[in-house]
Amino acid sequence: MSQQRQILVTSALPYANGAIHLGHMVEHIQTDVWVRFQKMRGHECYYVCADDTHGTPIMLAAEKQGVTPEALIERVQAEHLADFTGFHIGYDNYYSTNSPENREYARSIYNTLKANGKIVSRTIEQLFDPEKQMFLPDRFVKGECPKCSAKDQYGDNCEVCGATYSPTELKNPYSAVSGATPVLKTSEHFFFRLGDCADYLKGWTAGSSVRGDGETQPHLQAESLNKMNEWIEGGLNDWDISRDAPYFGFEIPDAPGKYFYVWLDAPVGYMASFKNLADRIGLNFDDWFKPDSKAELYHFIGKDILYFHALFWPAMLHFAGFRAPTGVFAHGFLTVDGQKMSKSRGTFITAKSYLDCGLNPEWMRYYIAAKLNARIEDIDLSLDDFVARVNSDLVGKFVNIASRSAGFIAKRFGGQLAEAVADGEILARLQNEAAAIAAAYEAREYAKALRDVMGLADLVNAYVDANKPWELAKQQGQDARLQEVCTVLINAFRLLTIYLKPVLPKLAEGVEAFLNVAPLTWRDADSLLLGHTIAPYQHLMQRIDPALIEKLIEANKQSMEPQAAPAAAGNFEPLADTITIDDFAKLDLRIGKVLDCQFIEGSDKLLNFTVDLGFETRTIFSGIRKAYPEPEKLIGRKVVVVANLAPRKMRFGTSSGMIVCASGADDGSGLFLLDADQGAAPGMRIG
Ligand SMILES: [Zn+2]
Repeated sequence: MSQQRQILVTSALPYANGAIHLGHMVEHIQTDVWVRFQKMRGHECYYVCADDTHGTPIMLAAEKQGVTPEALIERVQAEHLADFTGFHIGYDNYYSTNSPENREYARSIYNTLKANGKIVSRTIEQLFDPEKQMFLPDRFVKGECPKCSAKDQYGDNCEVCGATYSPTELKNPYSAVSGATPVLKTSEHFFFRLGDCADYLKGWTAGSSVRGDGETQPHLQAESLNKMNEWIEGGLNDWDISRDAPYFGFEIPDAPGKYFYVWLDAPVGYMASFKNLADRIGLNFDDWFKPDSKAELYHFIGKDILYFHALFWPAMLHFAGFRAPTGVFAHGFLTVDGQKMSKSRGTFITAKSYLDCGLNPEWMRYYIAAKLNARIEDIDLSLDDFVARVNSDLVGKFVNIASRSAGFIAKRFGGQLAEAVADGEILARLQNEAAAIAAAYEAREYAKALRDVMGLADLVNAYVDANKPWELAKQQGQDARLQEVCTVLINAFRLLTIYLKPVLPKLAEGVEAFLNVAPLTWRDADSLLLGHTIAPYQHLMQRIDPALIEKLIEANKQSMEPQAAPAAAGNFEPLADTITIDDFAKLDLRIGKVLDCQFIEGSDKLLNFTVDLGFETRTIFSGIRKAYPEPEKLIGRKVVVVANLAPRKMRFGTSSGMIVCASGADDGSGLFLLDADQGAAPGMRIG
């Protein structure tokens, strides 16, 4: 056993205005497995999280529901924690960013940054809603795209042509809050001088720290480092950290009516949650956050919030006199059956619906873990594969080892395991894998760890087939041999349980009760259980009934409807002016077939389509990357193309036409390509 490490771990803070879904769960499962592994290794490890509670969306949501923001976030926090706990996520503290600790740290960090010359104030012009008497965040201003005139675009970018701009450039802008026409108004804002931290950030992002066990830990994954280098070399802009009243958040010291932007106090929420825990259990907070702290600090996050965690956050910490993170571990997004989670398909699966349908959370923990590695890759939940894999691995290969041997030990030997086993080679083989499996967990290569474990389970099942305990049980004079074979199997099961325990904590508890042993630690893999009395076997895990999956999909289709309907009703785009058939005839819509579709280097909005229009092949850029994160999956499908749209030169080349999408969902996530029935061929005109 290496030296004991002090490790503080966080997951990203869920925003307090929506339900926890399986996308969140990927990250919290990834974190929880790692934390449980570290605790099993005997390290002093704490896992803290919190709800992210501030900002305009919370303020407006509370107003819409007729409650105070405090009441809203309290209800949502309880729901979030219940969902996570239902999946056995074992936080040491789950707190709120709307806490006294967070207010104190946000203010003191700000004050220190200011004293160190890292804060400047500047007067800016911003769109203001004269009816609501509030400044409008970019996402709360809508209007026509200044480049392509598409209607109903957000204030920061056009989802049709992919242009980015400032909200003041929108044509015919309106407030998404009241519908009023916004006016320009000046306001004093505070900025964090991120550009002034570039030298430090160049060093930190490329750097590493020494762990408590003497190993070297790079601060960022290779993919993250490349991205940060791009951003740093592109020049870091000052970061606007203030917002004007009305705003739900913390008021900035000595600046009445000015509030910290939610993204300033959200990461500080990690510290605040830990401070709250430290005070409760008697830890010295400063030992963990002082600049030369020996403790390790890790943040598990989604790839979409790297900018905040790998640039702003280390710079804020460092220049405010705290230690920076030891590692920022980013992961990809979850797709379901190869596609973005979709409310209409019922694959936007909430944590609550999963539990309410009677699905075992450890099935999902296992499946997700079996797909996770240390790289920033999207992972796919294939529902058929989910059923097949869990049933085959967990029930078929693992749990069956116990169920095939425990009965004989109970009935024939009074629960007593043999004092010694002659054929212990297979157990030695299992024990010898402990270090490799531990190394895979440590490196967040869970898929590899679980492949190794299932490989060992295969060996054990081969041993069962070779020794056939059920036949030994029928033969005269084979009692000792039967007890020995079953003792080997129970020990193999115990070793496999140790290796699976970070992923399956609840099942491991059941095994500990069955084996009549104290909670298993990693070190227990060094020893065997001999001459010991075990408890009667209780069934440990059911197979997944595929009917449950159908129920789950149905539940998510239904549960979305009542929520979506009222939002959509007030949110349909007004009907455009009446046109004549001649007006319509001007629009030449054609069926296209996607020959190729790729990401565009340097654009996080656009996809580059090569489309077969029958009579010719076109290059078309479409701003739907967020809705379709796996462009290769679009190859071969039919789309509807505005074929006579004037070609447009863009930064990445010329786009010849437009691919038609349905849009207008409240959360901005909904962009849906149109389909054509069989028989519709490339080049056919639509009308
Ligand atoms: Zn546009």
